[in-house]
Amino acid sequence: MSEPTGDAKSEMKQASKEVKESENVAEKYSAMTVSKNSEMNMGELSSVFSAVPTHKPVKKQIQFVEDKQEFSRFPTKAGRRSLSRSISQSSTDSYSSAASYTDSSDDETSPRDKTQVNSKGSSDFCVKNIKQAEFGRREIEIAEQDMSALISLRKRAQSEKPLAGAKIVGCTHITAQTAVLIETLVALGAQCRWTACNIYSTQNEVAAALSETGVAVFAWKGESEDDFWWCIDRCVNTEGWQPNMILDDGGDLTHWMYKKYPNVFKKIRGIVEESVTGVHRLYQLSKAGKLCVPAMNVNDSVTKQKFDNLYCCRESILDGLKRTTDVMFGGKQVVVCGYGEVGKGCCAALKALGAIVYVTEIDPICALQACMDGFRVVKLNEVIRQVDVIITCTGNKNVVTRDQLDRMKNGSIVCNMGHSNTEIDVASLRTPELTWERVRSQVDHVIWPDGKRVILLAEGRLLNLSCSTVPTFVLSITATTQALALIELYNAPEGRYKQDVYLLPKKMDEYVASLHLATFDAHLTELSDEQAKYLGLNKNGPFKPNYYRY
Ligand code: NAD
Repeated sequence: MSEPTGDAKSEMKQASKEVKESENVAEKYSAMTVSKNSEMNMGELSSVFSAVPTHKPVKKQIQFVEDKQEFSRFPTKAGRRSLSRSISQSSTDSYSSAASYTDSSDDETSPRDKTQVNSKGSSDFCVKNIKQAEFGRREIEIAEQDMSALISLRKRAQSEKPLAGAKIVGCTHITAQTAVLIETLVALGAQCRWTACNIYSTQNEVAAALSETGVAVFAWKGESEDDFWWCIDRCVNTEGWQPNMILDDGGDLTHWMYKKYPNVFKKIRGIVEESVTGVHRLYQLSKAGKLCVPAMNVNDSVTKQKFDNLYCCRESILDGLKRTTDVMFGGKQVVVCGYGEVGKGCCAALKALGAIVYVTEIDPICALQACMDGFRVVKLNEVIRQVDVIITCTGNKNVVTRDQLDRMKNGSIVCNMGHSNTEIDVASLRTPELTWERVRSQVDHVIWPDGKRVILLAEGRLLNLSCSTVPTFVLSITATTQALALIELYNAPEGRYKQDVYLLPKKMDEYVASLHLATFDAHLTELSDEQAKYLGLNKNGPFKPNYYRY
């Protein structure tokens, strides 16, 4: 999937202007946020939730009859094609960090053909094996240990139940960390139905554990494309339950509801979208005047972009490379394409291990940042014959071409950390003169006629998400942001959010950060009255203008 176009970006600017409007709501939340120090005051938080207007329950039931008829024409056996559009890139990208420890490859029966019942007698779910629930529960408990901020939000707000009456349909990676988010939403009063945004990333045992507790999960690792859409449909289309909130990662669920269930879609109170791709689609809808629901762009929240993109990649790039190749980095020559958030994280990690790091950039500002950080900025062609490793982090396409791959030296490693698997021209390597040898899971040797080997990781898909784990703590920051965005949209008085895409109010970003400071025993300095006046700030924040870049 492509990155936002110039148009989309200018719309993002517009959206950020509109943040001002939404900050009135934020005031209610964050009167307490980063007030004194990193430790939040329980009383303050609950008063915030009580200050939030109570929701108005949706009364009308929406009929699915038409949609059902249309969907019933949809073939039901595996290997069939979707009706409306091709599955998104993110949905098909391999994502095995969440590899299911209990994945039982000898059970070939499709979950769609099984009848399963949880211990409470419900069969409103479709997972690989409900019997894995106990093991999944342990996975969730492990994740909880590093998601203390989200758990603390859960504890502080659960008496207020700010999501009471919310019927959230979610489409995200189904991992132990997401389960902590889903169970937080449930503790805050929401009913949830969930499906996977990626056909490979579901932790089967976690899906089982959630289904056991009554969350209707429709997902398993290794779905077909048809299964993928079937699962989304089963989440949305159910007797006597209609969603009023969407939590999406990639935009597939939003797209499905928009196309197949327009009447339900119209009544949705808010969409929270996490990914670059999904946000791009929302802006396109908005631009075309077709977005009839307020949406929150979580991807561009500071607490997502500056943490997930930067720190997650700084932590996981080496993990992915080492697990797959056992490479030593000291003295190795590495070129990182793109010096945005992801590129910065990768470069910092590689430099720390003693690698000689080159950067390629198209943007003079990012290039200058790379120079000032001590990296040589080069054109890829200048170093292509000498580098040991190429890492793409641009969100662009054809950054590494076949011609360049031809000139790389024997034993060099090529991988991608960007969203899409089109950064490296992998398709150009699938020609008869080159031999592919699968040497490990996610590791291919591509062999040239003269015997030269290039090591291609994860077939050019996201390295860290395909070949390593990603840090739970960072996911906690993103999950807390998502939870607050849902609470914000759900509780905002009618009319406060229009049919457009919004950024999370700055004070909420600050609040998410403050919740996570406790883990580090970090103590914030409090502004004196005099200082606050001097800087023109409220002592309780927000501490930066919306245009501040961090
Ligand atoms: P960004 O926009 O901050 O950075 C991308 C950089 O690439 C920009 O500075 C841009 O100027 C540069 N660039 C574009 N085309 C180029 C080219 N042909 N050659 C060299 N440089 C080029 O974006 P980001 O936040 O760093 O994200 C980059 C990609 O990584 C996106 O696709 C994003 O979705 C993905 N991402 C991955 C992870 C992960 O865990 N692997 C996490 C977050 C984001």
